[in-house]
Amino acid sequence: MPGSDSGVGSCENVRKQYQFWYFDCRVMSNIRDEDDLKHTRNSLFGALGGTTEENLCARTHARYSLLCLRILLQLRSQSGQHHQTAPFCWAHKLRPDRLTPVWQEKNMKAIDIHAHIPRMPGLPEYGIERGLRRMFRMGGEPDDVAKMVETYRAIDTMAVIFSVDAETETGDLPDPNDYVAETVAAHPDVLMGFGTVDPRKGGAAVEELERSITGLGLRGLKLHPIHQGFFPDDPQFAPLFSKAEELDIPVLMHSGYAAAGANTPGGGGFQLAYSRPIPHVDSLAARHPGLTIIMAHPAWPWIQEQIAVALHKPNVFIDLSGWAPRYIPQELVREAGGRLRKKVLFGSDYPYISPVTWLEQFEQLDIRDEARPLILRDNAAGILGLEGRLKLES
Ligand SMILES: [Zn+2]
Repeated sequence: MPGSDSGVGSCENVRKQYQFWYFDCRVMSNIRDEDDLKHTRNSLFGALGGTTEENLCARTHARYSLLCLRILLQLRSQSGQHHQTAPFCWAHKLRPDRLTPVWQEKNMKAIDIHAHIPRMPGLPEYGIERGLRRMFRMGGEPDDVAKMVETYRAIDTMAVIFSVDAETETGDLPDPNDYVAETVAAHPDVLMGFGTVDPRKGGAAVEELERSITGLGLRGLKLHPIHQGFFPDDPQFAPLFSKAEELDIPVLMHSGYAAAGANTPGGGGFQLAYSRPIPHVDSLAARHPGLTIIMAHPAWPWIQEQIAVALHKPNVFIDLSGWAPRYIPQELVREAGGRLRKKVLFGSDYPYISPVTWLEQFEQLDIRDEARPLILRDNAAGILGLEGRLKLES
């Protein structure tokens, strides 16, 4: 029986709710049978000191009930009983990515939604990589995973890492999604991962997306229409986006200018039009209203189109990666602190732009203080389903 709701919002109740959510993501991966469930329940209430199921406030009680339901469903699916796979099935929430502990015992200040995984050892360098490194004036050897992890830990920032599968268009082998998942699993305190598929691989791409999310525990899909050579609103790719919508994962899609191929004959054959917000992202978002789309980068030379789409479509967001903040077009900076403050996300485009540099320059931008944590962390936490799992600053 839930207690009165009047205490919701008071420090103590908020603390308890967060403890629940926090507990939630930790315990889900450890419960194997009914005994574990009982044990978990006891330690949960033990941790809440004096709290019983009866005197929980209503919201916390609802949360607790949901947790129990999820645990039961997990037990059922483990014992081999059928559960439906429709998008609204509760058991759908039991995917590995939602079961693994994500937020550890530290306060995360920011989430970098856009970081490229260092090339898997043994794979040949991407054909376009050399040109990009030159364009971004990067000297020396590329970072390895250890160096990347060290960089993010030092600034209390989580990074969403991914590769790009553009094999059909470029002939380059992507870093496998399995490798992205392994890398994340080795550093869960600081990394999350998105899968990538080559849309031009058709049905195989749809299957690989499903496997990446439900099997490997990745949390989103990374696409690059220019490198992959496809128009996102071309109906032949609708099954891929319907699958992403069904899996309830965000799609992060390159938008605007691309550095790859610049100053080479024919721009390396890459066509910028694939990444134009209107009509391609706008139409896609209209046809898949349940699909969360993140337009990666200020979409120059179509900044106004990008702003219009993000303003008009609740399911479209913008990441500010790939541009050192001091060069981000003023119009977008103004909107990011104003009408689009809940639609804009921090992204660096690591390793091409260092998250350290990005965050330093972001401080200098003329953006209201209230909008900063939204852009740096909270908007991404919402998209990634991490709300309530952030450890509260005491
Ligand atoms: Zn990028």
